[in-house]
This record gives sequence, C-alpha cells and structure tokens, in this order.
Amino acid sequence: MPKDKHGEILGTLRKIVGKDNVSDSPEEVYYYSGDPSTESPHAPEYVVLPKTVEEVQEVVGLANREKIPITPRAGGLTLAGLAIPSAGGILLDLKRMNRIIEVNPNSMYALVESGVTTGQLKTFLENNFPDMQFSVPHAPPIVSVIANAIVYGAGHVCLKYGTNSDMINGLEVVLPTGELLRTGVCAVNNKSWFSKYCLPDFTGLFLGWFGATGIITKCAIELWPKPAIRDAVYYAIDEADDMAEILLRITKAEVADDIYMNSWTGTSSERFELSQRPKGISELYLDVILSARSKEEYDSKRRIVEQIVDEEQKKGRHIKVHSPPQSLRDFILLVPQPLQFMDLKKGGGSEYLGCYVPTEKIEAAYREGIRIAKKYGFQYLQVIRPFKAGHATAIMYAFSFNHSDSEVVQRLQTVLAEICDSVMELGGIPWKPSPTLQKLVLKRADPIFVEFINKVKTMLDPNGIMAPDKWSPEE
Ligand SMILES: Cc1cc2nc3c(=O)[nH]c(=O)nc-3n(C[C@H](O)[C@H](O)[C@H](O)COP(=O)(O)OP(=O)(O)OC[C@H]3O[C@@H](n4cnc5c(N)ncnc54)[C@H](O)[C@@H]3O)c2cc1C
Repeated sequence: MPKDKHGEILGTLRKIVGKDNVSDSPEEVYYYSGDPSTESPHAPEYVVLPKTVEEVQEVVGLANREKIPITPRAGGLTLAGLAIPSAGGILLDLKRMNRIIEVNPNSMYALVESGVTTGQLKTFLENNFPDMQFSVPHAPPIVSVIANAIVYGAGHVCLKYGTNSDMINGLEVVLPTGELLRTGVCAVNNKSWFSKYCLPDFTGLFLGWFGATGIITKCAIELWPKPAIRDAVYYAIDEADDMAEILLRITKAEVADDIYMNSWTGTSSERFELSQRPKGISELYLDVILSARSKEEYDSKRRIVEQIVDEEQKKGRHIKVHSPPQSLRDFILLVPQPLQFMDLKKGGGSEYLGCYVPTEKIEAAYREGIRIAKKYGFQYLQVIRPFKAGHATAIMYAFSFNHSDSEVVQRLQTVLAEICDSVMELGGIPWKPSPTLQKLVLKRADPIFVEFINKVKTMLDPNGIMAPDKWSPEE
C-alpha cells in the first residue's frame, strides 16, 4: 500500500477506536505475525483493538470499502496458525470486548462478548453462580469462549454434552459488509437468547469458518448444572489392540463427563524424550472423569465403569487399575488441565493436529499416527477424547519441536499432511485444520461442496476481505 494511503487508513482507524488502540509499530505487528505452529508467519499492516460492536462495524465497513483484508484474533492459541494474518491488512484483536452481558441460571446460558476468556467466565460463574458451569477446554485460560465455540472446541463435559459448537444458542455477527446479523431466537426479539430452535438456523454459516464469514461479537453459550462431586478412575491399557472396545463400552455407558486417554509419552516430560517405551510401562493411560450430586450417585457410576473393566479383563483384554501419585490426580482434575507436554522442546514450537474420527476407527487412527511420526523421526504423543456419548472421538497428534530449525519445521509439515490424509482415508476429518491442511481437505471434498463454500463466501463477502486464506482451495 502506498505510504500516503497507509497513513490515511491509520488516521481513520485511530478516529474509530482511539489512537491508543491502533498500531502499525514493528514490535506490535511482529507480535501478531505468528504462533507456535508450523504455519509461516506474516505481519499485519495494522493491529486494531475495538471495544464496541459499532467500532467493529465501522472498521469492517472501512476495510470493505478499501478492500483491506481482516483477520480476527482472540487468544491466538489454536496452535494451527488460524489467527495469522496471512494476507496482511488489519489484525482485529478482540480482547477488549470482554463483557459478560447476562447469565440466565434458569434457561442456563451466558451471553458473552468475543473477548471474554474461558478463565474469566469460569471465575465469574464460581463467584456468582457456583451451581453452574460451562464446558471448559483444557486450553490456557486466556483463550476466548467464543473462539473455542466456533471452532468445535471440546471442554471438560464434552463426553456428556458434545462440542462447544453444539452449545451455541445464538450469535451476533458483523458481516463482511458491516451489517449486523443475529442468529437464534434473539433475531426475533430482544428478550432472550435461550435457544436457536424453531427458526431457519444460520449459526452454521459462522462455525468452522475461522472468521471467513464475519466477526462474531456476541454469543449465547449453554451452561450446565455443576454437580458437587468430580473425581476420576484411572486405568492403564497395555497394548493398543484393546483400546477401541474398552473405549466404546465405557463411552456408551453414559456415566462419564469426559474420558482422556493418552499415549505413555504424555504421562511425563522425561518419557517424551525416550525413543522406546520402557518395560513395565503400558501403551495407554485412561482417565475416566465422573461427576455426581451425591456420594451414592458417584459410587454407582464408578461401579458401572468397574464392572465394564472387570468384564473386559475376563475377556482377556489387558486393562488394569492404575494409581497415579496424588499430585498427578490433582493435576488431572484441574479445569482447565495444564498440558505440560505442549512445550517441551527448545525453540518453542508446538502444534497439535486434532482429528475427529468415527469411534470404531480410533485404534487405526492411533496406529497411523505412530507409524507416520516414527517414519519422520518424531516422538509420538497422542491424546484421545470421545465426545457426545461416543458419537465421535477426537484424537490429538501433538508435537513439540524446535521452531527455529527450518528442516524440522518442514519435516513436521510433511508429518501433519500425511496424518491428515490418512485420517481422511479412515473416514475422519481434521479439527481446526491449519490453512495448509484446509487445502488438503478441499482437495478431497466433493466439488459441489467446494463450489458452495465459494458461493457462500462471495455472497457474504463480495470484496473477499475476511480471513481470505481460510477455506481457500489450492490455486
Ligand atoms: C495447551 C493447549 C491445550 C488445548 N486444549 C484444548 C482443549 O482441551 N479443547 C479445545 O477445544 N481446544 C484446546 N486447545 C486449542 C485452542 O486453544 C482452542 O481451541 C481455543 O478455543 C482457541 O481460542 P483462541 O482464543 O486462542 O482463538 P484464536 O486462535 O484467536 O481464534 C481461532 C480462530 O477463530 C477466529 N476467530 C476468533 N475470534 C473470532 C470472532 N469473534 N469472530 C470470528 N472469528 C473469530 C480466528 O481468526 C481464528 O481463525 C488447546 C490449546 C493449547 C495451547
């Protein structure tokens, strides 16, 4: 952009959001240029921090008139390059829009702005509505409730209730033209955001799009009763052959809030550094999180799990009770649970490719991850998490790596692409895929689906300004 024009846009942005909330300084655009993933960094021309919906509308309106790309960002922590402003232009940091507007304890929802973090909402509920909870992802508490909900994020009650995208009652969105759209009941009246039922549902136009169809400024997210007791039972599974059946059975018993199964490499940072599994260490560790209103209810849920394990042992499956030290138990029950293994390597690189797979394909997806990681000389670290009573299961292929070593970065990109392809071969789909992996997905997609994505994008965003690198097929 010519210097004069740059200065003129900067001046207009300052008028809209105030001079302290716009920057084009090298330090600040650098800060927003990358993330710990293997995706290439790219600096924006301007960083803009709006406070109100009207400011967002004005910034988007300006970008639309001047054909300037916009990338929204909340925590910037998907570890998949999804908030990198690859087309330059405006980076819209939404963290100042941080009001919790309403909590309705009867119809059980919270209405929040786009910068409200998971830590903020959790603390607010603990202080004001201690009997309520929302589904908290195990991401750092600075991530945004809305960003997590619009990327099909999974929280600590996802096995019971589904992904956070399933829990959206309604959205308020600034469309790429600057107009304001509401989805759900709130589109008809201003009285309540209790549901999206009974209307043509446009919410999906903004889920899984990574900002390419508009900036979400408000979202009503479902809350759930918070039982008094939350604890876990722990098991170790010696070999991967036995995992799928056990997982299917415990999942379908419908007693657990969440199930976390991770490869032996994820149980301590020392193990991550080993190339071989030590003798006496099981392949997989399984945490079954249970909650209940009373001790009787908890004990009966626990007995159901124990009975399943007992029956599986009698069938010859190698599953045994595991007793982690108390410190690890406390750790596992924290919400969010800190995931130390994400940043083990010098150089600070961290990426995890999550994939959603049919639950019965979980063993094959696990083995494929190991095969591909080993082929390229990486240690494997995988976490498995079924959701919505087992209708689907997520498998996270996590890698920490030296971000400053370009050979390692390239090799890991190959690994991620191969895993992504092999999971799609099994019938699965990558979760929050990086822009690079989105192209792989589109290559396999039905051409009518790809054409439809383009039609929707063009209809909503005639000037192609919104996160233009998202869901954009290979040239
Ligand atoms: C250690 C670790 C553990 C994790 N564990 C989990 C987990 O258990 N469950 C889980 O679900 N995730 C997990 N994650 C992944 C990730 O942090 C989350 O999915 C989180 O929701 C990302 O939120 P964010 O605020 O960082 O989003 P961002 O990266 O800022 O945004 C995500 C995408 O949405 C777009 N976007 C953001 N806000 C808006 C908006 N208002 N309107 C339109 N588009 C927008 C961005 O452009 C980007 O494409 C983990 C991440 C880490 C680092």
